[in-house]
Amino acid sequence: MFKKAIGVWIIILSMILSVIHVHAVDTQSSSEEAAGEICDENESEDVKSECKVPILVYHNIMDNYCTSQSSVQISPKEFETHMLSLDQAGYHTITFQQYNDYVTRGQELPDNPIILTFDDGYSSNYEYAYPVLKKYNMKATIFVLTGRMGAVDEVTYPHFTWEEAREMQQSGVIDIQSHSDLHPDMTKVEIGRAQLELRRSRYLIRKELQKPCEVFAYPYGLYNSDLQELAEKAGYKIQVIVGDQGVNTRKEGLKQLKRLTAFGGTSGEELLAMIEENMQ
Ligand SMILES: [Zn+2]
Repeated sequence: MFKKAIGVWIIILSMILSVIHVHAVDTQSSSEEAAGEICDENESEDVKSECKVPILVYHNIMDNYCTSQSSVQISPKEFETHMLSLDQAGYHTITFQQYNDYVTRGQELPDNPIILTFDDGYSSNYEYAYPVLKKYNMKATIFVLTGRMGAVDEVTYPHFTWEEAREMQQSGVIDIQSHSDLHPDMTKVEIGRAQLELRRSRYLIRKELQKPCEVFAYPYGLYNSDLQELAEKAGYKIQVIVGDQGVNTRKEGLKQLKRLTAFGGTSGEELLAMIEENMQ
């Protein structure tokens, strides 16, 4: 009789313990889910869903550039200073894939996220930017012109080759995406040509690099709603412009991500101040 009573009590006790355990696991997993949506766990709920992501745009990197060209040129030394300043300020570079997962599925982003981009696919990106990014453990996206890969001529600065693109892509440091095939003003060309620019560049990147091409940066940052629709139909999930003002938030979607030009001749402090100003 006594043994039977103890047995009943043991059963009751283990039932109570298992209920407490299930509740504890539940509470833990729901707090983990909440943490999956935020940039900074210390901020309030409202701010958490409004993560602000700046995107910087660089072009060519070279010494002794003409100061009138500082919106598209920066020296190797200035570029490294920029990266060092971003790193020391606690910025974490993220990929467009991460930003896509954040916007569409609420996936977690690191604190102080930032996206680095380069337009046109110049050889100097391979020569100077790629090693510096590797050194600081940073990531960037290069928007290439698929019709100019490996091009060396007197019209413009040399462009890196498919082989170099492949090396950068495989390193995990650089993601190659599309800036069209031949860099026309997309708002001024016939619809057939615009379609070709979107589709041909995407096809070549997928074929040459054996990876998805889902981000399109408009040449000169020029676009309209018809082009946005065409780009979407061509398979681009993300479209990028140059606004030189503001940063990106989840509620604005993925069809016109704004970028801030990182000017040559600006110090690390000036770059950080410019980004901060645009966060307001
Ligand atoms: Zn361009």
